[in-house]
Amino acid sequence: MTDFGRSLVWFRRDLRASDHSALSAALEHSTRGVVGLFVVDAAFWQQHHEASIKVDFWLRNLAALKARLEALGIPLKVIDTAHAPTLPEAVVALARRLECDTLHFHREYEVNEVARDRAVRAFCLEAGLKVCAYHDRVILPPGALRTGSGTPYGVFTPYRRAWEKVVAHNLERVLPEPAAQTPLHIESDTLPDAVAGFTSHVPLGEAATRYPAGEEAAHAKLKRFMRTAAPAYVEGRNVPSREGTSGLSPYLAAGILSPRQCLEAACKASNGHPFATEGISTWVSELIWREFYTHLLCDYPRLSRGRPFKLATDAIDWRDSEVDFRAWCDGKTGFPIVDAAMRALKGTGFMHNRLRMIVAMFLTKDLLIDWRRGEHFFMTHLVDGDLSANNGGWQWSASTGTDAQPYFRVFNPTTQGETYDPDGSFIRKWLPELAHLDNKTLHDPHARGAKLSATVYPRPIVNHAEARLRAIATFKAIK
Ligand SMILES: Cc1cc2nc3c(=O)[nH]c(=O)nc-3n(C[C@H](O)[C@H](O)[C@H](O)COP(=O)(O)OP(=O)(O)OC[C@H]3O[C@@H](n4cnc5c(N)ncnc54)[C@H](O)[C@@H]3O)c2cc1C
Repeated sequence: MTDFGRSLVWFRRDLRASDHSALSAALEHSTRGVVGLFVVDAAFWQQHHEASIKVDFWLRNLAALKARLEALGIPLKVIDTAHAPTLPEAVVALARRLECDTLHFHREYEVNEVARDRAVRAFCLEAGLKVCAYHDRVILPPGALRTGSGTPYGVFTPYRRAWEKVVAHNLERVLPEPAAQTPLHIESDTLPDAVAGFTSHVPLGEAATRYPAGEEAAHAKLKRFMRTAAPAYVEGRNVPSREGTSGLSPYLAAGILSPRQCLEAACKASNGHPFATEGISTWVSELIWREFYTHLLCDYPRLSRGRPFKLATDAIDWRDSEVDFRAWCDGKTGFPIVDAAMRALKGTGFMHNRLRMIVAMFLTKDLLIDWRRGEHFFMTHLVDGDLSANNGGWQWSASTGTDAQPYFRVFNPTTQGETYDPDGSFIRKWLPELAHLDNKTLHDPHARGAKLSATVYPRPIVNHAEARLRAIATFKAIK
């Protein structure tokens, strides 16, 4: 790599200093030091339906990053696009003012982000700046895995096998910790502690306790998971009332933690080989799903544009029922596991994976409402909202995606509740109006004779058996 003079490192959804490809390269090769940059772009965030709780999480992590960078002698500057002519002009103006000759960043793969980066890059090059872009969001860069005929993998299992083969033979190591640079005598900017237009539905104090900010907090969570829940992950991961999963998705989505660091922790916890023990290797599989959906997003840009992976499913005649959609959003469908999950999402900004599948399938099959409405609602409420994983999860549940659930396999929300919340503790927590019911009645209160008025808890808004047949017939009709 050629040497740079002074470098500007643009932090985006990679709000960490450790194992950060762009920062490490810039620190190693810049003869006149490194300056950090963060861009507050409320209009862009609004256009992408970013949840307020997630924006709050970014800002809290940005403050932690600023402290870490300053300890390394790296000042952090902020561009607020609300006060800038255009982003490319603002980046170039800042670089000139700080005497930076090179801009570094990690690539993003969504279509609008790609267009933004192209525009910034072109403007920088025209102004005589160098631009270095790195792949760092996933362990294997997009395009790294191809089938024998050179096409992207469209099915997860062969993708996972190929991924494991490459990674097992060439385990990507985390980068050495960055060393402090000689201070530059450039002041950091004051960070915003809120951004207009993003008012969290979860009380901020509670969000800060639930999702503490900073790399240290993320690593403590990772360590605790490896010590306690990872060995029993296979059984524990499907029970929402247990802490059976890592809870790391907000940290991975915002890049507080890198996937390499997760893989390294998995290796350490299983004798140096991430696929050696069942619990850890199943958890690593989830990281591979994350990689799979990110790769798909690059290979199929239409996924960023709200189009289905299976184009034929564009012809599905989705129901347009605002009343049913609102009942789903508000946790008032009359199906306790669905309602408890939706109220948990609104109350915490998070939903357990099993519950995401249940509520997504309920919306798209039982209610036959367009998956894009659910995808949008999730994005505006999730602290870990991420286009590739969210889109992948929704299209899997709606049977419109790659390697999706077959359309004729429709979850029964009542039996899902009985299977994954057998003692009803999750439902009782979020639906206190049902807390007094016994375990059997709790999962289908009105049909099982609970003395309960429909004003206290609603009757089911659909008949599941009939709704299932309607969904199957609708999907069959487009075949
Ligand atoms: C409808 C739907 C929407 C979803 N939306 C998102 C989203 O916006 N953001 C998001 O990060 N995940 C999403 N997921 C995937 C999954 O539900 C969450 O990643 C998981 O619940 C996070 O909890 P955890 O960190 O404890 O996961 P763990 O079980 O500990 O898994 C470890 C990590 O692997 C990744 N991961 C796990 N499962 C998946 C998966 N199915 N697809 C992709 N990555 C996965 C996450 O980064 C997660 O933190 C969605 C799933 C569905 C079905």
